[in-house]
Amino acid sequence: MGRLSILDYSWRDRRRKEDWQLSEVPTLARVRRQPPRVRAVEVSRVTKLSEHRTRVQFVGDLADFSLAGPVGHIKVYFPHPHQNGIDFAALAMPRGSRPPSAPIARTFTPRKFDSTAGTLDVDFFVHGEGPASSFAQSALNGQQIAISGPSRPHLLQPNLWQLLVGDESAIPAIETILEALPADARGSVVLEINDLVDRPNLVAPEGVEVICVIHNPQLSHCAEMLATIKDLAIPAVPIQVFVAAESVGIRALRRELLSRDLQIEQITTRGYWRFGEAGHPDSDMGED
Ligand SMILES: Cc1cc2nc3c(=O)[nH]c(=O)nc-3n(C[C@H](O)[C@H](O)[C@H](O)COP(=O)(O)OP(=O)(O)OC[C@H]3O[C@@H](n4cnc5c(N)ncnc54)[C@H](O)[C@@H]3O)c2cc1C
Repeated sequence: MGRLSILDYSWRDRRRKEDWQLSEVPTLARVRRQPPRVRAVEVSRVTKLSEHRTRVQFVGDLADFSLAGPVGHIKVYFPHPHQNGIDFAALAMPRGSRPPSAPIARTFTPRKFDSTAGTLDVDFFVHGEGPASSFAQSALNGQQIAISGPSRPHLLQPNLWQLLVGDESAIPAIETILEALPADARGSVVLEINDLVDRPNLVAPEGVEVICVIHNPQLSHCAEMLATIKDLAIPAVPIQVFVAAESVGIRALRRELLSRDLQIEQITTRGYWRFGEAGHPDSDMGED
């Protein structure tokens, strides 16, 4: 089996290539992207969590699905408006060579998986136009779509002081982190939401304060969170930071956090969506 050229590396592998010894460079068989294992699922319950947040529960091909920790993401596939259902044959093709009929993919956080009941909950922010948002707005029991994943989870260090920052799209991720923290965990959650009616009732350990600010449409996304974090007293203890929100906004947040004597290794930033862009990629770590 031949060695890889740099062009063959996936995005994540490219980031790590400098760390590899020549003898460790994976063989083609191990690294070349296989089409993901696609699971057919159908809607089994729709719950309106708030004005613009909807939980969709799925059942289906989930027998060997599992979550190894908080935040791992899944791909959710939607048919095009003119199609009756998911084109599974197109999804079985390698990513670069799929036909235009291939389903539309969006990225979401598995909010909860109940292996006994075989149910998977995904919480959608209904922000407006977009295949995922529109699906969540009108989802009906029995509706069939598909998912793949999950990805690897967030490497949570539960004993560190936690700073969790995000907008509505990150509420499910932040909730999975909060659920994974011990009762004596300490930290702060800073949320920026568009409308008070969508303020989530976060269940957090007693030592984790929750600050919720309202987005000012005159300002850029994350501007209110940025102002809050500038004023936030970050204790001089080991800390772990998770930030997920609009792509441009998280970069400003990252710059601010790095100016606060935090080390790069302590900070995870994720651009979950980008203003004005449909289908923003899931690889946006905001590190540029
Ligand atoms: C790892 C990861 C996990 C995620 N988990 C979740 C999750 O659990 N729940 C969730 O709701 N979202 C989550 N997101 C964000 C979600 O993937 C995006 O919001 C996605 O763009 C929604 O797809 P869409 O088809 O509705 O809109 P698109 O077709 O992608 O976009 C259409 C238009 O809507 C705008 N738009 C997209 N998202 C938003 C938004 N959140 N607020 C305002 N405008 C928006 C775009 O800028 C564009 O102009 C996650 C993203 C990532 C990368």
